Amino acid sequence: MRPEDVLLPTPAGVCCQLGGFHIDPTRPVDKAVITHGHSDHARAGHGAVLATQETLDLMRLRYGEGFAGATQAAHYGETVTLGGITVTFRPAGHVLGSAQIAVEANGLRIVASGDYKNVADPTCAPFELVPCDVFITEATFGLPVFRHGDPDTEIAKLLRSIALFPERAHLVGAYSLGKAQRVIALIRKAGYDKPIYLHGAMEKITRYYESHGIDLGRIDLARGANKAELAGTITLCPPSTLKELWSRRFPDPVTCFASGWMRVRARARQHLVELPLVISDHADWDGLTTTIAATGASEIWVTHGQEDALVHWSRSSGRQARPLDIVGYGDEDEAEVTASGEAP
Ligand SMILES: [Zn+2]
Ligand SMILES: [Zn+2]
Repeated sequence: MRPEDVLLPTPAGVCCQLGGFHIDPTRPVDKAVITHGHSDHARAGHGAVLATQETLDLMRLRYGEGFAGATQAAHYGETVTLGGITVTFRPAGHVLGSAQIAVEANGLRIVASGDYKNVADPTCAPFELVPCDVFITEATFGLPVFRHGDPDTEIAKLLRSIALFPERAHLVGAYSLGKAQRVIALIRKAGYDKPIYLHGAMEKITRYYESHGIDLGRIDLARGANKAELAGTITLCPPSTLKELWSRRFPDPVTCFASGWMRVRARARQHLVELPLVISDHADWDGLTTTIAATGASEIWVTHGQEDALVHWSRSSGRQARPLDIVGYGDEDEAEVTASGEAP
């Protein structure tokens, strides 16, 4: 059996014809198996969705009750059989509920990892290595220049800036699902125990994380505080709001942005970011290549991001590799920045 007989790459996502499902399809299908709740992977309008309970809940928070015709939840480690094909969920370490999907038939195992990182994150289960024949990987930061470094060092920079400018507010742009909660947890881990403020758009998801036993300390909504109270405080907000009118309610704000892209100075400048924080929920170059090697896979399929370099690296290290050219996956940080457009 060839890998393509088990999972067939199509422009709308990989499709398992024998099992009758797609993984992270970018258009509505009868049955979708979904790796995690980010909007480019988890879309509304499928007939049925199989995902972790957390991913289903996050989709419901985002799209409302009727986001799919039917839903089925799977735990980490649980195997579901679909048309003779087995599907097993394993933690991907990306955001709460994120899973790699191991698809098996006739002794051939293909792992679709969705988005992943092999770095500790206090807000989600750690990435679990799954040995496989074919590994499907993202390549968001698939260039050797991307080395994310230690997130605690970035948080220390933020706390130093707050100590230095007690009269200014610190606005931290962070993606609403996953990154914002991770940044808050990292700030708490560093010993900061004052209230942390939140943009209203992040409230539901953040409360959901808290309801899962993730301790984020005291969280207040920024809209409940006056300008003077916000001096010397930290507020998490969607990146798109950094340049919007909304930010003017804060006293002389220091603009921060938590993203793997902040490694690139031009990007930080382009977004008028005063304090870039290199914190990513995706594997960096070393993370991608180490993980690929550790899976033992002889064939690598690359879904989205900087495919070329990773395909080239995989081939030159003796593996077969191909880009999948799936249209519609993006990077969540960039999506939220560009979504704002030229907002007033
Ligand atoms: Zn993602
Ligand atoms: Zn993605």
